Amino acid sequence: MYGPIFLVVSILGAFHETTAASQHINKDLSNQYNARFHVYEEPYSIDFTYHNYDQMSRFLRTTSLRFQNLTALYSIGKSVKGRDLWVMVVSSSPYEHMIGKPDVKYVANIHGNEAVGRELMLHLIHFLVTNYGSDPYITWLLDNTRIHILPSMNPDGFEVSKEGYCEGGQGRYNARGFDLNRNFPDYFKQNNKKSQPETEAVKEWVSKIQFVLSGSLHGGALVASYPFDNTPNSLFQSYTSAPSISPDDDVFQHLSLIYSRNHGSMYQGLPCSPSQPGFKNGITNGAQWYPLTGGMQDFNYVWNGCMEITLELSCCKYPPASDLQFYWDENRVALIKFLAEAHRGIRGFVIDENGNPIERASIKVKSRDVSFLTTKYGEFWRILLPGMYKLEVYANGYLPRDVEFRVVEQHPTYINVTLYRASRHPGEDEAGSNFYNGNRDHVNRDHVIHFRPHSGANAASEANNGIFSSLSNGFNSFVSNWFG
Ligand SMILES: [Zn+2]
Repeated sequence: MYGPIFLVVSILGAFHETTAASQHINKDLSNQYNARFHVYEEPYSIDFTYHNYDQMSRFLRTTSLRFQNLTALYSIGKSVKGRDLWVMVVSSSPYEHMIGKPDVKYVANIHGNEAVGRELMLHLIHFLVTNYGSDPYITWLLDNTRIHILPSMNPDGFEVSKEGYCEGGQGRYNARGFDLNRNFPDYFKQNNKKSQPETEAVKEWVSKIQFVLSGSLHGGALVASYPFDNTPNSLFQSYTSAPSISPDDDVFQHLSLIYSRNHGSMYQGLPCSPSQPGFKNGITNGAQWYPLTGGMQDFNYVWNGCMEITLELSCCKYPPASDLQFYWDENRVALIKFLAEAHRGIRGFVIDENGNPIERASIKVKSRDVSFLTTKYGEFWRILLPGMYKLEVYANGYLPRDVEFRVVEQHPTYINVTLYRASRHPGEDEAGSNFYNGNRDHVNRDHVIHFRPHSGANAASEANNGIFSSLSNGFNSFVSNWFG
């Protein structure tokens, strides 16, 4: 459903000073005046304690009032129990997308009892706004990136979770008992789980903003896990642990290593307990660890061209608050360095011969068959490691175009691609590339399936129920298109 999802919180800007007010200050106005400036007099700080929904909301509001030029607070929707799903943008342009510059995000507390990420997000917000202008790296990051932080995707689950509970499922699910990280559309398998309001809010959010890079924060292990989470052959999941390799496997491994190497201990890959696995260099392919259907990271990647990885940040899901300082120290550098990776690879604009932006042009890097779309400004981004690549660009009514380019280590490669209108001979105007057929007839980005090697492949697997049909459909299209 389409709706105005970005409700910028304006209640804090509701106090006005007038000359008249200063002459006739009644008690209420005086209190309001004091309340407004009180926030500037109090030290701006964040404790190493857990913040329930009300405390978290208060911190976010205080931050948005105190740092009006660096932050914006909006809600992407409400939980089952009516709690706002707050997102705080931290950037030198908090209210407006910076044309040509990437938007990135963190989503924490999707499992309500995995509490460390939620608190780390509040500390990250505090750290970013208090270091802007003094720390050159943070200043550069916020001048060139819009960072969207959703500290809790499952605020209802958190409220019924218990501090000190390292394992178990109390609070993991939303208020209707759904696991939100099994609730997204899935490329490999039909997902029959009823879509939840929290999931719908995130789906609409990522359909409105082209996020380039994302981290999903969890607990219960210590590892950076990357797509794919699901696999065409998870029928055999109890017998094998084969990786489910995505076309951007090199990039995903790199992003995961950036996190694990900048983390205090993740890179060592030690198991949380003797019964749990260790992870070489602190990273793993999601399906190789264990396959799952309906996860958020595969959805971000396949549906929206956003590179998301899953960050498991603590062996204990809800450790005592006295450990929070330790977790912040372990993760601070990694959280920041990871986001900066949005500035690696290629970026640019797709324009027509008159220099106007072309929206919803389909873009693919050759041999990486997850395509993505340009924004309304014609922008695109793709995180890539150094090397030579070929960009394949297609837009309805235009001649398709290939562009070769080089990516270097030091800075992103900027490319503007001009597309020329196709001459319309009968039968030719719809000829285009077969690859991009999946993107053609859809108006809303959130319904577009980018990763669709053959037109109709996904529809076929959705139409057939059962594990065997998805096994054959998924696997065949997979192999023939990545390697064929
Ligand atoms: Zn989790």
